[in-house]
Amino acid sequence: MAELRGVGIGLGVAQGPVARMAEPLPAPADTPSALSPDEETTRVGEAVSAVARELEERGAQAGGAARDVLEAQAMMAEDPSLESEIGTRIAAGKTAEFAVFDAFASFRDTLTAMGGYLGERAADLDDVAQRVIARLRGVPAPGVPDPGHPFILVAKDLAPADTALLDLEKVLALVTTEGGPTSHTAILAREKSIVAVVGAVEAKGLADGETVIVDAAKGVVTTQPTADELAGAQNRAEARASAASAPITPGALSDGTAIPLLANLGKPGAAADAVALGAEGVGLFRTEFLFLSSNQAPTVEQQREAYTELLAAFPGKKVVVRVLDAGADKPLAFLNDAHEENPALGLRGIRALRASEDILREQLTALADADAATDADLWVMAPMIATVEETEYFTALARDYGVKTAGVMVEVPAAALLADRVLVDADFASIGTNDLTQYTMAADRLLGSVASFQDPWHPAVLRLIKEVGDAGRAHGKPVGICGEAAADPLLAVVLVGLGATSLSMAPTALADVRATLLQHSLDDAKAIAEAALAANDAASARSAANAASQHTKETQP
Ligand code: PEP
Ligand code: MG
Repeated sequence: MAELRGVGIGLGVAQGPVARMAEPLPAPADTPSALSPDEETTRVGEAVSAVARELEERGAQAGGAARDVLEAQAMMAEDPSLESEIGTRIAAGKTAEFAVFDAFASFRDTLTAMGGYLGERAADLDDVAQRVIARLRGVPAPGVPDPGHPFILVAKDLAPADTALLDLEKVLALVTTEGGPTSHTAILAREKSIVAVVGAVEAKGLADGETVIVDAAKGVVTTQPTADELAGAQNRAEARASAASAPITPGALSDGTAIPLLANLGKPGAAADAVALGAEGVGLFRTEFLFLSSNQAPTVEQQREAYTELLAAFPGKKVVVRVLDAGADKPLAFLNDAHEENPALGLRGIRALRASEDILREQLTALADADAATDADLWVMAPMIATVEETEYFTALARDYGVKTAGVMVEVPAAALLADRVLVDADFASIGTNDLTQYTMAADRLLGSVASFQDPWHPAVLRLIKEVGDAGRAHGKPVGICGEAAADPLLAVVLVGLGATSLSMAPTALADVRATLLQHSLDDAKAIAEAALAANDAASARSAANAASQHTKETQP
């Protein structure tokens, strides 16, 4: 038995056989073919048509948008101009593998140079080329495997495209060797309630077919488990399934202290599911998600419609909308048009909006209109606030447009350190732990090689959160949390102990957080937070909080 450590997402536990995601194939060597051109042409013909048929079949199974994408890929595979490019290379004595690789690569370059929609298809073309070459070599195609039975998917990391076809009936759990708690895989796992451990470097050594236990609560993958361990994991999985079906109650601690549990949303259409999972409102609506593919700023009318649909889904409830957070990993063509070496440190969030103030004014107009047309309690906040002056600028402008509750996100350490002054003017603060961790630890939130630094449990991050919590208490103003940290149940307790008054997360995380809060009083939460704050690093903070939480549970009356 060995334990491989990573970062667990949520509290789930699962067991089953490993299926590894195949790595991209190495480029074929440009060596002369030992076969005749006719033989190579036959091989290519068979491989291309087998790949095209397989893509069509997968598309038919998946249905919806995935079917269109896969059918388009099947057509690419059989494109006559590609066939003739491959033929030219085979006639010149190249192997089928190299001819396919080289012909697809030249098409890829042409598509990339065209840019726009066609440029974006370049990655699809790569995928088709990899499939054809894999077929020619008689090896499994890269991508999500299909061993024909439920399995634990082990991958380096998952590209968003890999996830389109993830069959949740078959994928029992995800383990990645790269990626941190804010990677795409982690966000997807949280969204879909998939048991996951990310950034488990040693999982590289896992073999196809071996049975493992994936314990997200502990962030551990157990290899060669004993029968007892397997039975224990099974019991926990069943207990958790029954907790998930427990009645939905408003978020609260065991002493009755209310901690409203809110949803993070990116489109109004997701509101109904959030309400069904017990969201008591919205703690973060990411408006930039609505316009990621737009080249032009959205009109007031377009925005009014989207915001009205959102607010109408939450009558009488708090809905916190964030004005556009453009830049870094979420560039908007109409707000970020200059090249920057370090976009995470550039004109992002409120800085970009200020540079195009008309866009901010239009967004505030649309929000005020939607507010007037509905009964929700609209709060509006600005992203990436770094100074008191920016706070004053934003809140004054928002109030000019009739926004009744105007606040700021605390994602930059400077804003956390001066939270007592920021909260003089802002009506509330909402802590974005994803960026606060990135900027405190100087670790790009998207970069696997620094994922170990991207841990919101780090006491440096917790200390900054406490600054904001203390300032909120002193001013009598709410302090919410809307980064991924709020979805980690034990960390959620710590955040409350540090002064958070509400927690916002992916709706699928609500049940676990609700259940864990109910096991602790406010005094417990403060004691657990103290234990975490006193640690020297993230791992020790997590274990100290764990130990303190076991202790408070045991000593409960
Ligand atoms: C955050 O930074 O924690 C946050 C909630 O904002 P986003 O993830 O959209 O940057
Ligand atoms: Mg952020």
